[in-house]
Amino acid sequence: MNQKVQGVGMDGETRCVHYHTEKDIIAIKFKCCGTYYACYSCHEALAGHPAEVWERSRFDEKAILCGSCGHELTINEYLTGGFRCPNCGALFNPKCSLHAPLYFDVEKHG
Ligand SMILES: [Zn+2]
Ligand SMILES: [Zn+2]
Ligand SMILES: [Zn+2]
Repeated sequence: MNQKVQGVGMDGETRCVHYHTEKDIIAIKFKCCGTYYACYSCHEALAGHPAEVWERSRFDEKAILCGSCGHELTINEYLTGGFRCPNCGALFNPKCSLHAPLYFDVEKHG
Protein backbone atom coordinates (compact mmCIF):
# COMPACT_ATOMS: atom_id res chain seq x y z
CA MET A 1 0.00 0.00 0.00
CA ASN A 2 2.99 2.29 0.33
CA GLN A 3 4.65 1.71 -3.02
CA LYS A 4 4.35 5.39 -3.78
CA VAL A 5 6.80 6.16 -0.95
CA GLN A 6 10.54 6.20 -1.66
CA GLY A 7 13.04 5.29 1.04
CA VAL A 8 16.28 3.48 1.86
CA GLY A 9 15.67 0.05 3.38
CA MET A 10 12.04 0.94 3.98
CA ASP A 11 9.57 -1.40 5.70
CA GLY A 12 5.83 -1.72 5.14
CA GLU A 13 5.05 1.20 7.44
CA THR A 14 7.58 3.59 5.85
CA ARG A 15 10.29 3.21 8.49
CA CYS A 16 13.71 3.60 6.86
CA VAL A 17 17.34 2.91 7.77
CA HIS A 18 17.59 6.40 9.30
CA TYR A 19 14.43 6.46 11.43
CA HIS A 20 13.01 3.17 12.48
CA THR A 21 11.49 3.27 15.95
CA GLU A 22 7.97 2.03 16.65
CA LYS A 23 6.52 5.49 15.92
CA ASP A 24 8.51 6.45 12.84
CA ILE A 25 5.67 5.64 10.52
CA ILE A 26 5.11 8.82 8.57
CA ALA A 27 6.36 9.72 5.13
CA ILE A 28 6.65 13.28 3.89
CA LYS A 29 5.95 14.58 0.41
CA PHE A 30 8.60 17.00 -0.77
CA LYS A 31 7.66 20.21 -2.48
CA CYS A 32 10.54 19.99 -4.97
CA CYS A 33 9.41 16.75 -6.60
CA GLY A 34 5.93 16.02 -5.23
CA THR A 35 7.19 12.61 -4.12
CA TYR A 36 6.78 10.94 -0.73
CA TYR A 37 10.01 10.00 1.06
CA ALA A 38 10.40 8.22 4.41
CA CYS A 39 12.66 11.05 5.65
CA TYR A 40 14.87 13.88 4.46
CA SER A 41 17.96 11.64 4.47
CA CYS A 42 16.18 9.27 2.10
CA HIS A 43 15.38 12.23 -0.15
CA GLU A 44 19.01 13.29 -0.04
CA ALA A 45 20.20 9.78 -0.88
CA LEU A 46 17.74 9.03 -3.66
CA ALA A 47 16.33 12.20 -5.20
CA GLY A 48 19.48 13.64 -6.77
CA HIS A 49 18.43 17.25 -6.16
CA PRO A 50 18.27 19.63 -3.19
CA ALA A 51 15.14 19.49 -1.03
CA GLU A 52 12.76 22.43 -0.98
CA VAL A 53 10.53 23.22 2.01
CA TRP A 54 6.79 23.99 1.82
CA GLU A 55 5.96 27.65 2.28
CA ARG A 56 3.27 28.58 4.81
CA SER A 57 0.74 29.47 2.16
CA ARG A 58 0.63 25.80 1.16
CA PHE A 59 0.22 24.23 4.57
CA ASP A 60 -3.23 23.02 3.48
CA GLU A 61 -1.50 20.69 1.03
CA LYS A 62 -1.71 16.96 1.78
CA ALA A 63 1.96 16.18 2.35
CA ILE A 64 2.10 13.68 5.25
CA LEU A 65 1.33 10.02 4.84
CA CYS A 66 0.45 7.74 7.75
CA GLY A 67 2.47 4.58 7.17
CA SER A 68 0.03 2.61 9.27
CA CYS A 69 -3.20 3.19 7.33
CA GLY A 70 -2.14 5.17 4.26
CA HIS A 71 -4.20 8.25 5.22
CA GLU A 72 -2.86 11.57 3.92
CA LEU A 73 -2.76 14.58 6.25
CA THR A 74 -2.31 18.21 5.38
CA ILE A 75 0.75 19.94 6.85
CA ASN A 76 -1.54 21.93 9.16
CA GLU A 77 -3.27 18.78 10.37
CA TYR A 78 0.09 17.20 11.10
CA LEU A 79 1.56 20.22 12.90
CA THR A 80 -1.52 20.74 15.08
CA GLY A 81 -2.76 17.15 15.41
CA GLY A 82 -0.92 16.06 18.55
CA PHE A 83 1.27 13.56 16.68
CA ARG A 84 -1.37 10.98 15.97
CA CYS A 85 -3.19 9.92 12.85
CA PRO A 86 -6.74 11.38 12.72
CA ASN A 87 -7.85 8.35 10.73
CA CYS A 88 -6.42 5.30 12.54
CA GLY A 89 -5.14 6.85 15.78
CA ALA A 90 -1.58 5.57 15.33
CA LEU A 91 0.96 7.57 17.31
CA PHE A 92 3.64 9.49 15.44
CA ASN A 93 7.09 10.24 16.82
CA PRO A 94 6.93 13.71 18.45
CA LYS A 95 10.66 14.04 17.85
CA CYS A 96 9.91 14.33 14.15
CA SER A 97 8.76 17.85 14.88
CA LEU A 98 12.39 18.75 15.63
CA HIS A 99 13.01 18.15 11.96
CA ALA A 100 9.99 20.11 10.75
CA PRO A 101 12.13 23.01 9.44
CA LEU A 102 13.74 20.55 7.01
CA TYR A 103 10.37 20.04 5.37
CA PHE A 104 8.21 23.06 6.16
CA ASP A 105 8.73 26.81 6.49
CA VAL A 106 8.31 26.88 10.29
CA GLU A 107 10.27 28.45 13.13
CA LYS A 108 13.14 26.42 14.45
CA HIS A 109 12.73 25.54 18.12
CA GLY A 110 15.93 25.40 20.11
ZN1 LIG B 1 12.66 16.43 -4.13
ZN1 LIG C 1 15.39 7.77 5.72
ZN1 LIG D 1 -3.31 6.29 10.10
